[in-house]
Amino acid sequence: MDQGIDSKPCACPYCDEELESKPLPFCSACGKEIRVCVSCGCALTPVQNICPSCGAKQ
Ligand SMILES: [Zn+2]
Ligand SMILES: [Zn+2]
Repeated sequence: MDQGIDSKPCACPYCDEELESKPLPFCSACGKEIRVCVSCGCALTPVQNICPSCGAKQ
């Protein structure tokens, strides 16, 4: 029952600030580089190889 991911906005993995719905290559709050999950579009740090949200390999 993990399919219920709705329109919950992703948060910056560094400062936990909510990100805009349109992902940027960096956080607008703290300015750090972020990547976007290829599967669910959530924000990841550049060193995260597996999405903590959906578990997809990057
Ligand atoms: Zn941030
Ligand atoms: Zn994901």
